[in-house]
Amino acid sequence: MTRSIPPRILTAVAGAVLAISAALPMRCLGASAEPVPEPVAVQNAIVIRAARMLDVRSGTIMSDVAIYVVGERIEAVGSPADIARRALPSATVVDLGDATVLPGLIDCHTHLLARIPDADHAYAMNLLTKSQAYRALEGAANALATLRSGFTTVRDVGNEGSGYADVALRDAIDNGLIEGPRMHVATRGIAAVGQYFPFRLSSDLADFPSGAQMISGAEDARLAVRQQIGGGADLIKVYADWERATLTTAELGVIVEEAHAAGLKVAAHAQTRDGIRNAVAAGVDSIEHGDHADRDTLKRMQSAGIYLVPTLSVMDAWAAQSADNAAMPRLVAALEASRETVAAARAAGVRIALGSDPASGDRHGRNADELVALTQRGGSVIDAIRAATTVAADLVGAADDIGTLEFGKYADVIAVRGNPLTDIGVLKHVEFVMKGGRIVRNDLVR
Ligand SMILES: [Zn+2]
Repeated sequence: MTRSIPPRILTAVAGAVLAISAALPMRCLGASAEPVPEPVAVQNAIVIRAARMLDVRSGTIMSDVAIYVVGERIEAVGSPADIARRALPSATVVDLGDATVLPGLIDCHTHLLARIPDADHAYAMNLLTKSQAYRALEGAANALATLRSGFTTVRDVGNEGSGYADVALRDAIDNGLIEGPRMHVATRGIAAVGQYFPFRLSSDLADFPSGAQMISGAEDARLAVRQQIGGGADLIKVYADWERATLTTAELGVIVEEAHAAGLKVAAHAQTRDGIRNAVAAGVDSIEHGDHADRDTLKRMQSAGIYLVPTLSVMDAWAAQSADNAAMPRLVAALEASRETVAAARAAGVRIALGSDPASGDRHGRNADELVALTQRGGSVIDAIRAATTVAADLVGAADDIGTLEFGKYADVIAVRGNPLTDIGVLKHVEFVMKGGRIVRNDLVR
């Protein structure tokens, strides 16, 4: 074939051919019976009512609201009387009572395929003892926990050595085989040879699996991006550093060029001053962690529209668990650096998106800890919620579909008791979750 036909066009053509052939047989066969009209598909219609709705754009609470959902999208938002006039009489009414509804939350930094144990050599043991099939099933469990906690979309930034299991997980969720959030997946991640997990293996184990696709040189970098796009990646994840800057600016530049040419964004793990600088200079779309970003680089991030995804709650959890640990002084230093960076990024006007970085069994489903962690670093409650809704939707490139409760968007709706603007902690206890018009969880109405 000299040119490719986009799959969506193929599907549309196939659909049209099927529709035409379905209408033809009667005539071709000379049958005299009138064709029986197809029944009109009856779409699911639901009216959600609640005492309050958080409008994340204005940052205000609206009282006594109704959301009209038809199929998988929002048809209208308004007063119960308004919506009652517009809704089909057959619509199901779900009255959540004294609850606050808000858009489904978005986590821009997850690893749903990672359930790494807390043990010596844990990363290598995870690769050594679990098949990729088992890893995929772990991913299904992590995906369910994430969705039930109110996170209806994730940007999954690296599957930590599980092949392309994140693509399989994303597709199984999209096809309705299992429950989970909408996933934007990075597949394998790209790191410099020898500069990502697992470290300190025997040099005899040349073929031991790695936690990312290891590259050396610009053409290796280009090949890795092309392979990952071919494998189903929605974005590319790179490790710009690991304790020091690792990938060169030339390698990073090729990765960005190749990804952007295909319409994919690039997320860069970068914690060191030089690693962050290199990634920003190469034109990545987001800096993940960003602990030691300098002021000059933050200014460049602001002017280039590069997001910061600081991943704070995972460090808080480590600090809480390892008070007597030898690693504690380094952790304290990292916590302090991240506090300063987040404050400086805010002051510089860098857009901050929420990412909780879960990679162990106990962290999946605790994504809302990051909302609390952001407010503990001096941010306002509404800015933290925007980091998980409007800002996150922009970063994943899906602002037309998710991030607010508005006409035409996916009906991704969550509800909590109480008011998140006065107590952000209530978002750790989401009791109602709807994804794409389907109720996944409802503990408010028994
Ligand atoms: Zn991560």
